[in-house]
Amino acid sequence: MFENLSERLSGVLDRLTRQGALSEDDVKTALREVRVALLEADVSLPVAREFIKKVQDQATGQSVTKSVTPGQQVVKIVHDALVDTLTGEGDPGALKIDNPPAPILMVGLQGSGKTTTTAKLAKRLKERDGKRVLMASLDVNRPAAMEQLEILGRQIGVDTLPIVKGEDPVAIAKRAKTQASLGGYDVYMLDTAGRLHIDQELIAQAAAVRDVANPRETLLVVDGLTGQDAVNVAEEFDDKIGVSGVVLTRMDGDGRGGAALSMRAVTGKPIRFVGLGEKMDALETFEPERIAGRILG
Ligand code: GDP
Repeated sequence: MFENLSERLSGVLDRLTRQGALSEDDVKTALREVRVALLEADVSLPVAREFIKKVQDQATGQSVTKSVTPGQQVVKIVHDALVDTLTGEGDPGALKIDNPPAPILMVGLQGSGKTTTTAKLAKRLKERDGKRVLMASLDVNRPAAMEQLEILGRQIGVDTLPIVKGEDPVAIAKRAKTQASLGGYDVYMLDTAGRLHIDQELIAQAAAVRDVANPRETLLVVDGLTGQDAVNVAEEFDDKIGVSGVVLTRMDGDGRGGAALSMRAVTGKPIRFVGLGEKMDALETFEPERIAGRILG
């Protein structure tokens, strides 16, 4: 589908004379191709530009070892710089869930995969960390959203807060907190309502829930295929609610993962997990190396 960047660069650079060090012109020529690759991978233009500038300074004057071609050398420099940009502090998969019951707030737009991710994460906490988890749906807007979480809960053997019709999200969050304390749960997860677009009501509702729950983690779920939109959504949520990490879903799709780079560069927020399918175990801890490889094609 996409031409491999390494091959493309080799084509460009092998026409240049081999020499001991990468000259400024070599690097510039190569980075033009890298820029195209980044844009094809859906990295936003300002982020691609900034990134290229950084790599250009790093690469110019580097000596080319005999075992690699100048093209491979540039790809390696670019790859390492991508990993560097994508890497956050600490282990992205380590959630702050000491001090039980620890609340985790899940936010995001409708259709981003929030409910699915809530259940996937609950399953992971239960199976990998041996935690007792309670899930609660606060989605009073979308018909059947609460039932959806209940069904997933049964499927993965994780408890859900009993549904009480007519309750508002803040009341549900309070009830979840009480039930989590009384029931001896380690973690309770609050799956908030989403909408198709960010609006005042969505933000106000999520903020009200945040204020009663005081979450240890607020995870923003975004569709990894939506590119620049995903970044705008993240900026807005972080600005209004404050998020502690991002989960990129649909990374099993055709997308090249550029949203991850833009997300990290623009918001500074760590990507914690990636969704790799609809199944309950299709969730992995974010690995910068894998995304870097994917962006470069
Ligand atoms: P919500 O409205 O944000 O709660 O979204 P849902 O959790 O209901 O997910 C919407 C659709 O996306 C469902 O059909 C999910 O199975 C699907 N989905 C969620 N995460 C992923 C993922 O990582 N990969 C794929 N392929 N589909 C996903």
